Amino acid sequence: MPISPLPPQLVNQIAAGEVVERPASVVKELLENSLDAGAANIQVDVEQGGVRRIRIRDDGSGIPKDELALALSRHATSKIASLEDLERVASLGFRGEALPSIASVSRLTLTSATPDAGSGWTIRGDGGDRFEAPMPAAHPEGTTVEVRDLFFNVPARRKFLRTERTEFGHLEEVVRRIALSRFRVGLALSHNRKPMLQLSPAMNEAAQLDRVAKVCGQTFAEQVVRVDHEAAGLRLHGFLGLPTYSRSQADLQYFYVNGRMVRDRLISHAVRQAYQDVLFHGRHPAFVLYLELDPALVDVNAHPAKHEVRFRESRLVHDFLFRSLHKVLADLRPGEGVAPAR
Ligand code: ADP
Ligand code: MG
Repeated sequence: MPISPLPPQLVNQIAAGEVVERPASVVKELLENSLDAGAANIQVDVEQGGVRRIRIRDDGSGIPKDELALALSRHATSKIASLEDLERVASLGFRGEALPSIASVSRLTLTSATPDAGSGWTIRGDGGDRFEAPMPAAHPEGTTVEVRDLFFNVPARRKFLRTERTEFGHLEEVVRRIALSRFRVGLALSHNRKPMLQLSPAMNEAAQLDRVAKVCGQTFAEQVVRVDHEAAGLRLHGFLGLPTYSRSQADLQYFYVNGRMVRDRLISHAVRQAYQDVLFHGRHPAFVLYLELDPALVDVNAHPAKHEVRFRESRLVHDFLFRSLHKVLADLRPGEGVAPAR
């Protein structure tokens, strides 16, 4: 075959291969967009594990009518405009790839209203890369994205989807991660019209612990110690599981860097080391921790799904984490933890 450029829809579908693995990945991208839009409340409704339908409605800043088609175009973003912006990006998104990727492998409807627009507008895609002009639609301030029939036009991908229950499990875990990343944002999840999770904005410490209990379980919430430590421009805070609450698997470990959940070897290592003296071999600690630092000191552009980050000064971060956690754990007296959530 001679060399020739790929058709745009195929380019999007290839990109979708990286960011859209299953319904849970769609929910992750859409929720991140809602958070970036400053939403205070987000409603997530899904059907059949998200394969049949995912609908996410937020009360964020909305998208102007004349930008709706752009929102679905590849590499179009309102979040960065230069390399300088990229190097200190504070938003969750910045690649301008999620919506076009999702739109290329589903039937997507984007409906939005900005504060000054007076009414809403809607645009729809059916797996292609062309869209009709926006149509007027009743919508309160904010955005609703509906994604139906995921992978309807990519049979090879559809085959890799698991049972409704498994897909919903993955999706629910994404919602949990997001719920722990922004206590101030109200979040509700329903599956097949049944309410599964209902979290009102958590504005104070008691409400935060309450949310931790709802998301991670009451037993965990009763066996955590609060961490809040600051040094050298780094801040670590959150909930550290007491050694008495160790687990057989590393399945309750939430770590956020500037509000973005990450899995990182350096972080895991620092945490493991801090717990080394207080946990039995083969047991895993549980924690919900937040690291805040100057965005210019982390590179979030290491992976399309952004699960990985690179720290500019990894040694400094590692030592800060280890020292902070080690000290908290070493200072624990038997039976100590925070008071149970009411
Ligand atoms: P990115 O998030 O990387 O910018 P996306 O493809 O996810 O790329 O979204 C493209 C653009 O659409 C965003 O930059 C934003 O301007 C707009 N957008 C998407 N979702 C929302 C939303 N829920 N509320 C407001 N604007 C949104
Ligand atoms: Mg995005």
